[in-house]
Amino acid sequence: SEADLHADLLVIGGGPGGYTAAFRAADLGRKVVLVENRPTLGGVCLNVGCIPSKALLHVAKVMDEAAALGAHGVRFGAPTVDLDGIRDWTRSVVSRLTGGLGGLARRRKVEVVRGTARFAGANRVAVTGDEGRTISFDQAVIAVGSEPVRLAFLPQDPRIIDSTGALELADVPARILVLGGGIIGLEMAQVYHALGAKITVVELMDQIIPGVDRDLVAPLMKRLGTQYEQVLLKTKVTAVTASASGLMVTFEGPAGVHQAEFDKVLVAVGRRPNGAQVDPAAAGVAVDDRGFIPVDRQMRTNRPHIFAIGDVVGQPMLAHKAVHEGKVAAEVACGHQVAFDARVIPAVAYTDPEVAWVGLTETQAKAEGIAVKTGVFPWAASGRALSMGRGEGVTKLVFDPDSHRLLGAGMVGPNAGDLVAEAAVAIEIGAEAADLALTIHPHPTLSETLGLAAEAFEGTLTDL
Ligand code: FAD
Repeated sequence: SEADLHADLLVIGGGPGGYTAAFRAADLGRKVVLVENRPTLGGVCLNVGCIPSKALLHVAKVMDEAAALGAHGVRFGAPTVDLDGIRDWTRSVVSRLTGGLGGLARRRKVEVVRGTARFAGANRVAVTGDEGRTISFDQAVIAVGSEPVRLAFLPQDPRIIDSTGALELADVPARILVLGGGIIGLEMAQVYHALGAKITVVELMDQIIPGVDRDLVAPLMKRLGTQYEQVLLKTKVTAVTASASGLMVTFEGPAGVHQAEFDKVLVAVGRRPNGAQVDPAAAGVAVDDRGFIPVDRQMRTNRPHIFAIGDVVGQPMLAHKAVHEGKVAAEVACGHQVAFDARVIPAVAYTDPEVAWVGLTETQAKAEGIAVKTGVFPWAASGRALSMGRGEGVTKLVFDPDSHRLLGAGMVGPNAGDLVAEAAVAIEIGAEAADLALTIHPHPTLSETLGLAAEAFEGTLTDL
């Protein structure tokens, strides 16, 4: 049968990966159709991820800093929290960005179709939703993202929420359990703590933000220890029973089995790819048993005319990775000889303090038997950090001991997420310790800690 619509390039999913691919291909002259099942573009990141979480974290940060000013001679009264006002603020940020994307799509004549797409052959999809129709395509990009992992043993209860539920900010529960000590769980914990909830975090591994160097997580762990009721490590939640009074949670940890009751449980144990949901087999596209769609460096699936990008192709599930992959997929689809060739992808936990890292970590170097030498600069010696009352930060650079090339970097402290960008550039251009050490950083800024960590590596530090 005839398709209702034909696309040179069809993009499935309008998140950071999908809209980037769609816009780039349209700019290169292709007729692009973008299918998205949410009412607005922007995917998880803009609607229920990066952006609303950062808007809420901004509120939390200002509240925490205002409270901390007491120690610097300025006292504010107790804050009055208006949840409607906070929700309005968050929504206004999100809708400004998603609305902007709608305008950018129109300007490029990218046709946005609302609905859920599934493959119905190697060159067509069936779309269900408000606009049920068939779309044929020459090439396609799968950018369907991921969704929160659910734990099958948990009961169905409105008080058990995922990150999307947490961002809705329906209320501020008196006691909340955050199940999972990764980035998303810790960011939401931070927000609810600032708003007055008592927080318990439970993590299966032996540290929060598993995988990141322990010395970089330590200052965050220390601060959370003073703020939260408990941070339980090496501990498993084995059961949750719902009753009128709350959610009774059973923990199994180093100290044995214990129970505690919470008003809400936020499940943040990871995200799983949506690959299987587009019926890739109908187009002959391979998908692995976890739902990831394997791709090559040009973002091509096993079917050369079908590409996949973003969370659905693998870790790290981060918006900036999806964006860069989206650009590559669009350009390759348009005949450009390019490939995804990032040396490193930075990652940031927007907690307080922030934890950021890029490239090789010391933990990974040790596990893989790679010889490295570090340069470390403690923020206790940074005038800027001290003037912010935040001397607990650390900047660490990981170098090749022979070539002195920068291989990785990590930092913990306020604005670490902004600082890590300099290290990412340095690694991409193959910078050596001397390049960082001899670059004049503005004083007094936190960015100086990168130059000083490089000097520490070189043994030329005069400041300490
Ligand atoms: P997505 O953003 O998931 O977009 C996919 C879109 O496709 C969705 O809108 C989905 O509804 C739609 N879709 C799925 N299937 C179909 C279908 N069959 N038909 C039509 N449409 C479909 N990353 C960062 O880099 N920084 C952060 O600070 C950050 N914070 C986060 C905070 C939270 C709470 C969460 C949950 C995530 C966060 N992330 C962050 C991760 C980030 O959101 C994702 O990595 C990013 O959104 C992935 O982009 P994507 O284009 O692959 O897919």
